[in-house]
Amino acid sequence: MSECIFCKIINGDIPSRKVYEDDDVLAFLDISQVTKGHTLVIAKEHVRNLLEFTDDQASVLFSRIPAIARAVKNAHPDCGGLNMLMNSEEIASQSVFHAHVHLLPRYSKVSDGF
Ligand code: 5GP
Ligand code: ZN
Repeated sequence: MSECIFCKIINGDIPSRKVYEDDDVLAFLDISQVTKGHTLVIAKEHVRNLLEFTDDQASVLFSRIPAIARAVKNAHPDCGGLNMLMNSEEIASQSVFHAHVHLLPRYSKVSDGF
């Protein structure tokens, strides 16, 4: 059985607040919200990070990003835009080794986005 916490979230062994799901991709709120609506997007197939993706695996994940980004923005009317980030390997601040894209909604008032 996988010890990967994001595989456990996919399997439902660890609860999450889902933002989007289809057969291949899941988006859920980051447990530590850097800004309001901070969302993680993952492929259901376990891949370590950007350095390990095949083109097809990358296509599956990244093809969903624009629609999920719009859904995150639309869920927060005061959101003006987003940052997208993917940390790959420990030296680049990756702490969970199941590839994930961070979507960070941005707000004009600092207090709105923490
Ligand atoms: P990384 O540092 O690898 O780019 O990001 C990992 C992210 O996963 C962190 O922002 C962290 O808050 C988030 N995270 C870690 N464990 C959990 C969890 O059990 N549930 C959720 N929703 N997010 C998690
Ligand atoms: Zn995994």
